Order: sequence, then C-alpha cells, then structure tokens
Amino acid sequence: MLSTYLDSEDTMNTLEQMIDFGHERVCFHNDPETGLRAIIAIHSTKLGNGLGGTRRWHYATEADALYDVLRLSEGMTYKSACANLPMGGAKSVILLPTPGHPQSEAEARAMGRFVDTFQGAYIAAEDVGVDIQFIDWMAQETSHVKGGETLCTGGDPSPFTAQGVINGMKACLAHSGHAVDFSGVHAAIQGVGKVGYHIAKILTELGATITAADINKENLNRVVEEFDAQPVDPDDILTTKCDLLVPCALGGVIDTNMARKLKCEIICGGANNILGDPNEDAVVLKSAGILYAPDFVVNAGGIIHLAGLHLNMTTEELNRKSDEIETTTAHILQKGEEMESTYAAAIALAKQRIAEGSKEQVHAG
Ligand code: NAD
Repeated sequence: MLSTYLDSEDTMNTLEQMIDFGHERVCFHNDPETGLRAIIAIHSTKLGNGLGGTRRWHYATEADALYDVLRLSEGMTYKSACANLPMGGAKSVILLPTPGHPQSEAEARAMGRFVDTFQGAYIAAEDVGVDIQFIDWMAQETSHVKGGETLCTGGDPSPFTAQGVINGMKACLAHSGHAVDFSGVHAAIQGVGKVGYHIAKILTELGATITAADINKENLNRVVEEFDAQPVDPDDILTTKCDLLVPCALGGVIDTNMARKLKCEIICGGANNILGDPNEDAVVLKSAGILYAPDFVVNAGGIIHLAGLHLNMTTEELNRKSDEIETTTAHILQKGEEMESTYAAAIALAKQRIAEGSKEQVHAG
C-alpha cells in the first residue's frame, strides 16, 4: 500500500519524521474502488486511545499531507494531556484530488473501514472539510468515530471548541492586566467557518467588535450580516490592529516574519498549529510583547466534549473541564513569563501530565 504513494527515499523520510515527532504508528491507505487516499497517524497512546479529527484537504504534495497529519496528531497528544483527559493523540487526513472535492457516502464509508482496522486505538471525529453527515456515513462502518447524530453521537463539536477559546481569552485578558470583560474589545478573526463563526457570535454577545476575513464569501457574509463584522481582505487580517487576534482557519499562519508584523496584543484562536515553528515563533512573539495562548490548550473544548461522551462523563464534569481551560491557560501564561515562551510552558505541562498518567497506568495495571 505504501508503495502506491512513496518511493523508497520518501519512506525513509517518513520514518525519520515519525522518529523526530515521536509517533507510534503512521498508516497509509489507498482504496482503489472509491479513490480514497488517507493517512492515520497515532502519536501517543500513553494516556489512552487516540482521539482526533479527520481532515479532508487538497494538499499540494503528499509530503505536505504527511507533515500536516504528523503535526496535528502530535498536537492532539498535548491537547488531551493539558485538558487532563485519559486520551492519547491521533489524527487522520484524506488527500483530496482537487480543492473542494465533494464528499460522498462511498468515500466516508471507505474511511470508516480504514478507521475500523485500528480497533479503537484511533477514534475519528470532525475536522476541516468533514461535517456531521460525513461522520454519520463513517459510523456505518466503524463504532470508533464521534461527532455524528445517528449511529454515533456528539454532533458538531465546534460550539464547545469556541466556548473553550473564549475561556482561554478570559485568562489572556486577566494576565494582561485588563478587566475580564469583552465590551469594547476588538477581535480580528481569520476564518469564520464552524469555530470562527461561534467565536464571533459569543464575542458579539459579550460586547466585542469583530473584524473578519474568510476566503469563503458565504461564510464571511454570514458574520457581516449577523454580527455586523467588518470584512477585510484575507491578506490583511493577521496584520489588522486589534486587541485579540483569533486565527480560526488552517495552521502555520504565523511564522517569524509574520510575528514581527503583527499589531495585536493577544493571540488566542481555535486553529490547530497556528505557529509555523512554535519553538522559535513563540519566542519571537514573547520578545515582541504579544501574549500567545497556545492553541492546543485553548481549543480543547471540542475534544473535551467528544472524549467526555466516549468516557461517559456527566454534563457537570464536562462543563467543569471546559471551565478549567481558563485556569490551565492562566497557569501556562504565568509559567511562560519564567520560561522561554508560553508554548514551552504548555509543552512542559503536557509532558508532565503524560509522565504522571503513564506511571498511574503502570501502577493500576
Ligand atoms: P471550517 O472548515 O469550518 O472553517 C475554516 C474556515 O477558514 C473556512 O471558512 C475557510 O474558508 C477559512 N479559511 C481557510 N483558509 C483561509 C485563509 N487563508 N484566510 C481566511 N479564511 C480561511 O473548520 P473549523 O472546524 O472551523 O476549524 C477551524 C480550525 O480550528 C482548524 O484549524 C481546525 O483544525 C481547528 N479546530 C477545530 C475544532 C472543531 O471543533 N471544529 C476543534 C479544534 C480545532
């Protein structure tokens, strides 16, 4: 199967990247009948089975797809650990033949069968390009999927993700010496799809003003009409002068160069992997006086919701865990003052929880 995608040199490169990132398993899949091409990456099962979304995207190269799934799945490990969930980190990507390639039941069911081969070590959910219908189709082939409305439950996690990001923003405001009050706050949101839309909605209700950009005109118009958002060109959103910069599109949007051009006080968004090279870029942000809330800490609301259903948590427990995003973010922002960056502080917390959780599992066993 691997040979249909990669020549021998690439295969070596894949293994090297797996070792670099610390992955346990990376599996490529080709379904000739439906044309599905997909990758599932399990980064860590030290704390439990790996829960993470399925992304459908047209990648310029297979190497881009592999890099995306490796980084996303690594992020899931840290996300669950920082949220104190007994879950591991995993993610999957479907390589679309063309941008915006329409989803189909046959494709989703083929993906469901691929997920099923992991026997629960990987549990799939929504990500960019995947909706509830797609999840419900996958669920016809596997019980290891969350976020549907028929055979599996959970529904769209994005309202929960958005609320978690708002909780993270509260910690950012407090840390910066502001009142925890959004009235009069100016937020610039990049990408007003599922998560960005719900963040815009909550922020508007709390009295903030919104500037927004999206390459999808329909999504942009929705927030302009419903929340009186000021639309700007996608090329200008990141450098908009604002209090809160809220990236909610794809990853890698802020690199060292962009970090130096920003005109915001705080970065707190829903997107995964906002920083191109988080180790380096987070340090540049700190030296520029911009407070960065690590994405995998603040965007954990959706995974908390889906993992909670998987683990049979009560609504009270789920709400408490979502509320904890504020205190965890506050802790990380504080630690980030002493360490080289808030990103380093978040990784340290995740690794500490993984080490403690792994020890507990060994003792329990
Ligand atoms: P989505 O596809 O619904 O929304 C993404 C939006 O970004 C779309 O409207 C798209 O047109 C827009 N976009 C893409 N490139 C852009 C660009 N260059 N400039 C401006 N807009 C652009 O996806 P989503 O579910 O809202 O997820 C958004 C991000 O949040 C992703 O990085 C995802 O991995 C992350 N995330 C989502 C959830 C969730 O619950 N859905 C949870 C955690 C993290």
